[in-house]
This record gives sequence, C-alpha cells and structure tokens, in this order.
Amino acid sequence: MPPEPGPAVLPNPRDAYPKPPFRRQEQPWPGLAGRMEPRPDHGEHSYGGNGRLAGRRALVTGGDSGMGRAAAIAYAREGADVAINYLPSEEPDAREVVALIQEAGRKAVAIPGDLRDAAFCRQMVERAVRELGGLDILVCNAARQQTRASILDVSDEDFDATMKTNLYAPFWTIKAALPHLPPGAAIIGTTSEQAYDPSPELYDYAQTKAATMNYVKSLAKQLAPKGIRVNGVAPGPIWTPLQVSGGATMEKLERFGGQTPLGRPGQPAELASIYVQLAAADAGYATGQVYGAAGGSGQP
Ligand code: NAD
Ligand code: MG
Repeated sequence: MPPEPGPAVLPNPRDAYPKPPFRRQEQPWPGLAGRMEPRPDHGEHSYGGNGRLAGRRALVTGGDSGMGRAAAIAYAREGADVAINYLPSEEPDAREVVALIQEAGRKAVAIPGDLRDAAFCRQMVERAVRELGGLDILVCNAARQQTRASILDVSDEDFDATMKTNLYAPFWTIKAALPHLPPGAAIIGTTSEQAYDPSPELYDYAQTKAATMNYVKSLAKQLAPKGIRVNGVAPGPIWTPLQVSGGATMEKLERFGGQTPLGRPGQPAELASIYVQLAAADAGYATGQVYGAAGGSGQP
C-alpha cells in the first residue's frame, strides 16, 4: 500500500507571514487596506470553503477591511450571502470585497454609512434584512482606535466617538436585528486582547473592548432561551488599516507584532476560520465564549 499523502506544505506559523521591521507608514483614519505595505492577507487567495454556511445571510460591520473583510470573504465561500457596512471613504476597499463575494457566487449588499448614528444602524439592519431576505449571522466588528499618550489628550469628542462606534453601535444594531434573528442565529462581537491587557495609550479603546467581552457574555445568557448564540473574537496585533491610521508612533508600527511569542503580527486571514466556526451550526453548544488569536500573547 502506498503511504497516505501528507500535507504538501506544513507552514511554520513563525514564518508564514511578514515580520517586523515594517516600513513606516501612516494613513488618515480609517485607512485603506489597499494602501498598506505589505498588503494584508484577508484570505483572498487561500480561503477555500466547504458549504458550512450554505444559504445563511450575514451582516458584517467593518466588512471592507481587516477581520471583517476576512470574515465576509470566508462567509461567502462557505455559501452565505453577505452584507457589509463601512464608512463612505472606504468605498475602494469595499468594492473589492463586493467583487469577491460575487465571485464566490453569492449575493453582496454594500451598505456604506456611519455607525455613530442610531438611525443609520437601524436603517442598515432593515436594508440587510430586506435585501438578503432575512438575517442569521450578525458580526459587530467595526471599531475606532486612536493612540493618545495621556488621558489629558483624549478630548471629549474623541471619547464620545470611540464609545459611539465601539459600544453604542453594537447596542443599536443588535437591538434592531434581534426581532429578525431566528433560533440558530449567531451574533459575534470583535473584542481584543486589550480587554484584559490594556495598553496605556489606548485608554478609551481598551475599555470598550472589555465592555464588548462583557456584553457577549450577558447577551449569551439572555438570548440562549431564544436559541441565539453570542460569542466574541479577541485578536492580538493584526496587520490592518486600524493600526496604520490610528496615530500609533512610527517606532511602534515598525516593531508591530514583534513582541508576541510568534514574533510577528497576525493577518486577518488567520482569524477567518474562527468567525466561520462561531457562526456555523456545528458550534451549536458554544455561546458566551471569547476566542483568542494573538500569537501567544494576550491570555485573559
Ligand atoms: P479595520 O480598520 O480593517 O476595521 C475597522 C473597521 O471599522 C473599518 O474598516 C471601518 O469600516 C469600521 N468603522 C470604524 N468607524 C466606523 C464608523 N463610525 N461607521 C462605520 N464603520 C466604521 O481594522 P481591524 O483591525 O480589522 O478592526 C476590526 C476589529 O478588530 C475591531 O473591532 C478592532 O477593535 C478589532 N481588533 C483589531 C486588532 C488589530 O490589531 N488590528 C486587535 C484586536 C482587535
Ligand atoms: Mg476599513
């Protein structure tokens, strides 16, 4: 008997992707993945798909870039129709995602708009439900992160914008979506290792991620009787526009991800399967959990 063929290549996670030092680069908020160097990997050329989400309907906020884009691509390749939300200035990134969803043979709905507006959050959900014919998966992933060395540098407007984007928007969005979510539906919130190991210069952002972890757990208990699961994803340092448009120092960006045990930042593609797993019916017993991917750092 010939030996079973093994995997052609078993990638070493230390060497699978670019490592620091990175080229210094800065973009105005919220940044574009298409202008990053190196370009992030969202699974465009690697994510396969096995029909795990066949016929599902998903809404992903921040679906133009980063983790949201990786989730949107993976969802489509697993057989779901996908609506993405993003800021109007992110149209170039969003167009690429829409094309990738369509190339996967699925319906794509593009819903640009600012989540800091409660009325927009409600309209976004209504449009997604109308154009997808319902909603089974809601990923509250969009966030604002700005680096400020001191709390004295965090203006009232800054603080308000971070709270509105990271906490009020999921509150408004989940409230609007809930009447449409059937038993079996999944809500996923993107939190962060910042929830339990906050950086001193991310005072406002980090506390929203702790709150996200908390709402995942309370809502999981609250919605379990309806058969709706709620889980969180807690990334470590991932190579996304958030990191090059949030005012991080160039020294920090140059060394980005190098402090993790794996010695490099993660790529959005490396989290795609977590978003899929949490949405899939075969994870039916998982609710109120937070799943990390942080290169060996960021343990709660
Ligand atoms: P990203 O910049 O690709 O995604 C963030 C998205 O948020 C943007 O694309 C934008 O569309 C959206 N957004 C921000 N403000 C908005 C607003 N007012 N209205 C509508 N959309 C708005 O970066 P990312 O790193 O992929 O971020 C996705 C999630 O991952 C966020 O919740 C972030 O906090 C979290 N996260 C990122 C890292 C990291 O190192 N990159 C680490 C931990 C957690
Ligand atoms: Mg973006």
